[in-house]
Amino acid sequence: MTAEPVTSNAPSALLPTYARADLAFARGEGAWLTALDGQRYLDFGSGVAVVSLGHAHPHLVAALTEQASRLWHVSNLYRIPEGERLAARLVAATFADLVFFTNSGAEALECAIKTARKYHASGGQPERYRLITFEGAFHGRTLATIAAGGQKKYLDGFGPPVDGFDQVPFGDLDAVRAAIGPATAGILVEPVQGEGGVRPLPPQTLRALRQICDETGLLLVLDEVQTGVGRTGKLFAHEWAGITPDIMAIAKGIGGGFPMGACLATSEAARGMTAGTHGSTFGGNPLAMAVGNAVLDIVLADGFLEQVRETALRLKQRLAELKDRHPAIIDEVRGEGLLLGLRPTVPNTEMQAALRAEKLLTVAAGDNVVRLLPPLIIGEAEIAAAIDAIDRACVRLAAAPQAGAAA
Ligand SMILES: *Cc1c(COP(=O)(O)O)cnc(C)c1O
Repeated sequence: MTAEPVTSNAPSALLPTYARADLAFARGEGAWLTALDGQRYLDFGSGVAVVSLGHAHPHLVAALTEQASRLWHVSNLYRIPEGERLAARLVAATFADLVFFTNSGAEALECAIKTARKYHASGGQPERYRLITFEGAFHGRTLATIAAGGQKKYLDGFGPPVDGFDQVPFGDLDAVRAAIGPATAGILVEPVQGEGGVRPLPPQTLRALRQICDETGLLLVLDEVQTGVGRTGKLFAHEWAGITPDIMAIAKGIGGGFPMGACLATSEAARGMTAGTHGSTFGGNPLAMAVGNAVLDIVLADGFLEQVRETALRLKQRLAELKDRHPAIIDEVRGEGLLLGLRPTVPNTEMQAALRAEKLLTVAAGDNVVRLLPPLIIGEAEIAAAIDAIDRACVRLAAAPQAGAAA
């Protein structure tokens, strides 16, 4: 639908697994992106909740270039001081005692799943290997994580799903209790389902899951790949419920745009993960560790998360006003912190296209939701620009709902 010929029309040599917008960017600064044709876009997608501190943040650029000029990669055959420092800082800021670094969210989940299984095996119960997961979940695209997510569209055609996941309806505690058997190792859950449509798990449900795990000897495994590192206004979303997990996968925001993830665990939960049980060639490489430390410098600074909470509140209030102004287009505003969702009455892809025509970038999600995932550093100017763009898109959609966003 984009009129500007920003890329050649020649067939791409890329495997066509993505439905890409015909749009490419030359540079970014803060929450703003400049396309190849010079047009400016307000980035409320952040590369799917990744560019948590905006584009080209000077502190991250400095950390990465300093590291790049010194040392890129040595492998985990050797000590990596930057990684030891980042792990110690994550441990100091969370429930965890130990950290394993990965290159992506799915790999962080793989480590989390293996850690949960190995915990029971090392306790003499190798038959306890199954994890209870929730409908609408998204845990990544590896063979194990598509099985954990349980979504047919991601499983179809890839052979028998990896065994070991029992899915129950979202947030259904009775179904969780009923699903627990002698083979159950733990419960795997996102505090807010991101891809699933910005569906927050009520805090009391998360507390109840913690209690069920404590009563039955299960491990609580959280997927905070999208919700973590300040996205919901706390360092991690589970803090809102006042509970801690045994194991947690993170990624996206911790790298601020550099590909990295991590699996955090208590020393008890990680008791089976001894030398030789797991590894990654690239995981925890000095470049990633330098950026991860730089991200924490900012996110852990005094007042930063408080600022995110205030920004999120103002944005959500303004979105609620828009919903009142355009009840025929905006059905619902939902989410926590700066992980927000608009549920339009039109198809979410149509709303997303209308927003893109107004130079606002968003991310579609399940349940017909349009996700708003701005960088955590946005201020009044970005909120005002986003609200204007959504307002104009709603007017456009209301005028010609069936014509969609065709400009
Ligand atoms: C993005 C995401 C993943 C997968 O992360 P990748 O880096 O794409 O492998 C897993 N879980 C959640 C909740 C996510 O949002």
